[in-house]
Amino acid sequence: MAKFSKRKVSTYKRNKQKIDNIAKERINQLFQEAEKNFQEHPERSHRYAELASKIWLKYKIQLSPEIKRRLCRKCRKFMVPGKTCKVRIHQSRIIYTCTLCGNIRRFPINQKNKTR
Ligand SMILES: [Zn+2]
Repeated sequence: MAKFSKRKVSTYKRNKQKIDNIAKERINQLFQEAEKNFQEHPERSHRYAELASKIWLKYKIQLSPEIKRRLCRKCRKFMVPGKTCKVRIHQSRIIYTCTLCGNIRRFPINQKNKTR
């Protein structure tokens, strides 16, 4: 996943990477908790998603597409297909519509499998 340039990695960059990893881990944990709590406490899940998005914005890290798809960028709520977002497929794109704020996001299908 990670690309390393030939240039020397400075201490700052190394620290940044360390912080990024911690931040990513925390975001993953928050999303796992959000997933677990959604059935019984949807408000809690939204709170976790909000916290995760705050960390994401603060550290400007790259998140996995799975996580990006679970977070509404507009209202920062936890998106659960069939519950808080609608999922449609249109012209080889997956369209996620947040039912809470109406924000629409599009993702290409099978981007990873293209090279096969
Ligand atoms: Zn939304």
